Amino acid sequence: MIWEEKLKTAGITPVVFNAPMAACTTYKTGGAAQALALPQNLEQLKNILLFAKENNLRLRVLGLGSNILVSDGGVSGVVCCLKNISGVDINGNMLSAGAGAPLDEVVRKATDAGLEGLEGLSGIPGSVGGAVFMNAGAYNQETFDHLLSIDFMDESGRITTLLKKDLKYGYRRVEGIENLIVLNALWRLTPAQNAAALKTRRLEILASRAQKQPLEYPSAGSVFKRPPNNFASALIDKCGLKGLRIGAAQVSPKHAGFIVNTGNAAAADIKQLMDEVQKRVLAQTGVRLELEQILWGDF
Ligand SMILES: Cc1cc2nc3c(=O)[nH]c(=O)nc-3n(C[C@H](O)[C@H](O)[C@H](O)COP(=O)(O)OP(=O)(O)OC[C@H]3O[C@@H](n4cnc5c(N)ncnc54)[C@H](O)[C@@H]3O)c2cc1C
Repeated sequence: MIWEEKLKTAGITPVVFNAPMAACTTYKTGGAAQALALPQNLEQLKNILLFAKENNLRLRVLGLGSNILVSDGGVSGVVCCLKNISGVDINGNMLSAGAGAPLDEVVRKATDAGLEGLEGLSGIPGSVGGAVFMNAGAYNQETFDHLLSIDFMDESGRITTLLKKDLKYGYRRVEGIENLIVLNALWRLTPAQNAAALKTRRLEILASRAQKQPLEYPSAGSVFKRPPNNFASALIDKCGLKGLRIGAAQVSPKHAGFIVNTGNAAAADIKQLMDEVQKRVLAQTGVRLELEQILWGDF
C-alpha cells in the first residue's frame, strides 16, 4: 500500500492530501504539500511523527507560513501544521503559549493583562513556534528576551523542556533545535508600572508597521537578515532596487527589505528576484546579504 493510503486509513490525525501551500503561507504562492497534517493535540502530533519516521518520510513543521517560500513544484512528504496547538495561559506574571498560537494574539493578551516584555513583537504575523524557532524580533525586543523555557517534541514523540539558559541563541538564530518541534513557550513578564502606556506602545508599534511596511500585499516580511552594522533595506534602497520586478514579484517601493507578490507571482519569480537583489547588492556595495526567509522544495 502506498503511504498516502496507509495514512488515510490509519486515521491518526486530520490530513489533507495535495494541499495547496499558497493557502498556508503569507506569500500566497507555491505548489502543494503531498500531505498536510493538522494535529489537534499532542497525541495526534506524536502519531504523525511516528508515522513519518516509520515510513521514511520527510516531515516539515509549519506555523503560520509567514517566513517560508514554497517552490512551485511543492513539497513531498508531510507538512505538519501546528496551528491547532494554541492554548494561551496567564498566571500572575507567567505567560505560557502553545506553538500554534498567533504571536500577535499572545502579545495582545500580555499587554491587556498589563504585562511588559513582549510588546515589541506586536504585529509579527507568525506563530509562537515560528517565533521561537528563529528568535523573531522587532522594535528592540526579541522572542528570547523574557523567555524562561520551551517544551519540545523530538521525532520519536518524546517531550523535553529546555531552559533558555541552556540554549545558544542570537540575532534570528537558535542553535541545536533544528530537529525539534516547539510545543510551548513560557515567558516571565514584568507587571507594567503604567498599563495604559503599555497599551499605547503596542498601538504605536502596530501603526508604525502599517506606515512603513507594505501590508497591503502578500509577503513574508524582511527577505534578508540585517548585515553587521548595516540594514538590508538601506543597502537595497541605495542600490536603486526599490520597485525592481520579475513577473509579479516586486521589491516593495514602500520598504526595500520586502519582496511583495503583486498579483499571481510564481515562487520562481520571487526566488529569482531574491537572487538578483543579492547579486546587485554584492556587486555595488560588497555586502553579501543572507536570506532570512526559508525555502521549501526545489528552486
Ligand atoms: C508582514 C510581515 C512582517 C514581519 N515582520 C517580522 C518582524 O518584525 N520580525 C521578525 O522576526 N519576523 C517578521 N516576519 C517574519 C515572520 O512573521 C517570523 O519569522 C515568524 O516568526 C514566523 O513564524 P511562522 O509561524 O509564520 O513560521 P513559519 O513561516 O510557518 O515557519 C518558519 C520556520 O519555523 C519553523 N517552525 C514553525 N513552527 C515551528 C515549531 N512549532 N517548531 C519547530 N519549528 C517551527 C518552520 O519549520 C520553518 O523552518 C514578518 C513577516 C511578515 C509577512
